[in-house]
Amino acid sequence: MRILFATSEARPLIKTGGLADVSGALPAALRKIGLDCRLLLPGYPAVLAGIDNAEPVCNLSGLPGGITATLLQAPMPDNGVPLYILVAPELFQREGGPYQDVAGHDHPDNALRFAVFSKAAAILASDGDSPLAWRPQLLHCNDWQTGLAPAYLRLAGQTTPSLMTVHNLAYQGIFPPADLATVELPPESFSMEGVEYYGNLSFLKAGLYYADRLTTVSPTYAEEIRQPALGMGMQGLLAARGDDLVGILNGIDSGEWNPSSDRHLPCKFSARALAGKKQCKLKLQQDLNLEPGKETPLFGIIARLAQQKGLDLILAIADGILHRGGQIALLGTGEKMLEAAFRELGASHPGRVAAVIGYDEGLSHRIEAASDLFLMPSRFEPCGLNQLYSLSYGTVPIVHATGGLRDTVEDGVTGFVFHEPTPHALWLAVERALRAHADPKMWQRMMRAGMKRDFSWEKSAREYESLYRGLVA
Ligand code: ADP
Repeated sequence: MRILFATSEARPLIKTGGLADVSGALPAALRKIGLDCRLLLPGYPAVLAGIDNAEPVCNLSGLPGGITATLLQAPMPDNGVPLYILVAPELFQREGGPYQDVAGHDHPDNALRFAVFSKAAAILASDGDSPLAWRPQLLHCNDWQTGLAPAYLRLAGQTTPSLMTVHNLAYQGIFPPADLATVELPPESFSMEGVEYYGNLSFLKAGLYYADRLTTVSPTYAEEIRQPALGMGMQGLLAARGDDLVGILNGIDSGEWNPSSDRHLPCKFSARALAGKKQCKLKLQQDLNLEPGKETPLFGIIARLAQQKGLDLILAIADGILHRGGQIALLGTGEKMLEAAFRELGASHPGRVAAVIGYDEGLSHRIEAASDLFLMPSRFEPCGLNQLYSLSYGTVPIVHATGGLRDTVEDGVTGFVFHEPTPHALWLAVERALRAHADPKMWQRMMRAGMKRDFSWEKSAREYESLYRGLVA
């Protein structure tokens, strides 16, 4: 079965969040079970710089704004998955990140950029129109950046089925109504039964409306987004499409995230041989200027510093953690207020709190390996990856019962789960965790229970496969 997996991020080439981890791993897992899954990515500078042996395969025209693009093909660096790259220098080759400029403002032409990307995906999946000899039987779209592709397919009368995966419903690709002309969709599509969303154009809504099936990244999130509290205004549509929406849990890339082979760690360890974990902790304490202490409960945090992640709850109880003898190691970037608050927390507690404001893949692995506990009090979390990494690194997660956190952490067995996103509820969970940590036998049992859970991609890949088969049939 031939699947085109259209995504605007895939590690190790380009990453701003969990979407990149999924796109870097799921296509490879699908190929392993026999599907011909290929990736389509925009030609960002980091993508072009990260590949070798790229070959031009065809030109693409018929794109919005009269843009013409070139399609390159190359193998993905880590796993050899065939990758198509949409090269349109005026849209994708610029400074800054995939969506924002260096100053952190959205690129002003994002509507055109991702309309072109979506249209290219639709053309490659179309009967007749595609200049590519390889023809996918299904188009798998991911998040708002590819949301218009199912609309282009459907409105052109194409029958290739499409699947839309929501990695985070909070990012909806919303643009003013005037951009309907920019993206070259017909005026009649601007309605409730189409791409219109509270008077604006929403790329995500387009995908949710026109794709044949919808998935999101955990069963609980698939339920939650049908309700007003987490439906972000899309709950009506999602509830109406009830049977078309399922949750498939993300896996983890065990080539990248495995404590017994992780190239970023100073010492390796496993469920059977845990000693190396303590060494990782001592080394991290040294590297981050934390007071050395094998038994000190070390709390790790790695996150985009965004409202979603509930970091204000951590700030509210940080003094309590330190008062109980804990240490905190945080790695993150994002909202300036949160960056400043964590910097301040670090500055006022030298030796007890290390706040690294930045993006550092190696350090994220070392914090996962070194920490005893991991704090993830997200207000909502579609799936979440860091609690999965924590579980497999023997780092006991403390999580809010939402989305994928609820589906993957078992309270009192592999981690600690609290039910209200309040400082008090988080604090009660932290207290329970500290009591358990003080009992080495119990603690090791919890660490090992988490490490033994299977979050490999193969299981999820099989679920996607059965969905694909239903659609292609
Ligand atoms: P989201 O996609 O909402 O950001 P996820 O938990 O699904 O959250 O995925 C986040 C991914 O980004 C994880 O792989 C995490 O380790 C990584 N990450 C987040 N912030 C940083 C950072 N500052 N440095 C390194 N990795 C980070």
